[in-house]
Amino acid sequence: MTRTGGVSVLGAGVVGICCARFLQKEGFDVTLIDRDEPGTGTSSGNLGMICSLETSLPLPSMRVLCGAPKMLLDPYGALVVRWRHLPHLLPWLARFVRNAAPSRRWGHAQVMATLMRNTVMAYDSLIEGSSARGLIRHDGAVVVYETDDGFAADAGERAMLKRLGADFDELEGAAIHDLEPALAPNFVRGVHHRGCAQTHSPLGLSLALLDDFRRDGGTIRRANASAISVDAGQSPVIETDCGAIPTESLVVSCGAWSGRLAASVGLKVPLEAERGYHMAVPGFDSGLRRPIIHGESNIGLTQMIEGLRIGGTVELAGLEAPPTPGRAQRIYDVGRRMLADPEHAATAALSDWMGYRPTLPDYLPAIGPSPHHANLWFAFGHQHVGLSLAARTGQLIATLLAGRSPDIDLEPFRVDRFGP
Ligand SMILES: Cc1cc2nc3c(=O)[nH]c(=O)nc-3n(C[C@H](O)[C@H](O)[C@H](O)COP(=O)(O)OP(=O)(O)OC[C@H]3O[C@@H](n4cnc5c(N)ncnc54)[C@H](O)[C@@H]3O)c2cc1C
Repeated sequence: MTRTGGVSVLGAGVVGICCARFLQKEGFDVTLIDRDEPGTGTSSGNLGMICSLETSLPLPSMRVLCGAPKMLLDPYGALVVRWRHLPHLLPWLARFVRNAAPSRRWGHAQVMATLMRNTVMAYDSLIEGSSARGLIRHDGAVVVYETDDGFAADAGERAMLKRLGADFDELEGAAIHDLEPALAPNFVRGVHHRGCAQTHSPLGLSLALLDDFRRDGGTIRRANASAISVDAGQSPVIETDCGAIPTESLVVSCGAWSGRLAASVGLKVPLEAERGYHMAVPGFDSGLRRPIIHGESNIGLTQMIEGLRIGGTVELAGLEAPPTPGRAQRIYDVGRRMLADPEHAATAALSDWMGYRPTLPDYLPAIGPSPHHANLWFAFGHQHVGLSLAARTGQLIATLLAGRSPDIDLEPFRVDRFGP
């Protein structure tokens, strides 16, 4: 089917790429615009997990609030605020605290579950007949605990996940090692999340989808957008360093930078960048079969095609501050010790990386139309699960632009839900 009318997708991270590809499948003539090489931003450096219901619980919780003072005192801890950024961050933090209230959190978890339920299915439909198919496996992911106390502390979270319908098995002692023989023997408890899939090359996945996009007539343009406007006929115009780019419809999917562009059309969106780090051990084969998360520290290990990747943690420092020296090294130090043979990983060359998780304070993404402009759409704010949700988001955006009703209620994901 070919539709008349062009759609521009601004921002070619994995969310924008999936939007572009699903729109193309709907018959739209699509142009994907990015200031950098498509797919090479935050979407390239994640841990490759395509999570399902097991990541429906938002980060703000009473437990995180209670643990925050201790965490914040450790400059390399799991959650860090750079104090210079604090004045800017305070309104976002205030909302974060409000959203930690148990009833609000449970409400948001139920809403998030409506999105998370079909993440893997959305990818499966996107990669049908694509070379991307060989880059996704369906073996689940495992959370492992060094202590019974650590495992017990997450019991409430697991109970909520069960209520949401998440599919997992609890593991003990030798069963962990049977599932993942490359892990160190000191893990006493574990959880095998069966619904989680994995790509062992996040960048490779984006590039394969981009090949499909190009092959089917999609256009890719390089331009840095400074603002968006809408002309008298309701057609969006993207102001860029290469001049104004008028378009019939526009989807904004610029990850952590989307808030600035939304502001240019009068939408105040409290978007923060949760910076995360990884250390890559290129060429190193850890023998791990699935993504592994350290339950006590939340640091994750994923065997990629290129080598082992160890990543995680949250640093609230905005979009401009340079990476914190030593932070990726600390993550690596924890992650390496999770392996049966940590010395082996220590012999390889290392490369560190930092990315920006785009996060709204209720931990729900913004997916849907602009409240004021007929041909303007938003798809951003996917926090820790942007890779997981990219295909699902693309599917929903394409459904909306095609004029059909989505299969879930998108009201809670409205871009203007935080007020004017
Ligand atoms: C350490 C770490 C581990 C993670 N692990 C996982 C995981 O295992 N599973 C998971 O689901 N998620 C994970 N995530 C989260 C995930 O990576 C992000 O949610 C996701 O990449 C966001 O994708 P995006 O397309 O919205 O943004 P991005 O990948 O940041 O893409 C945005 C694009 O917009 C472009 N852009 C921005 N501003 C402009 C402008 N003004 N003009 C033109 N172009 C512009 C950028 O150049 C970029 O290409 C992880 C994140 C981190 C940091």
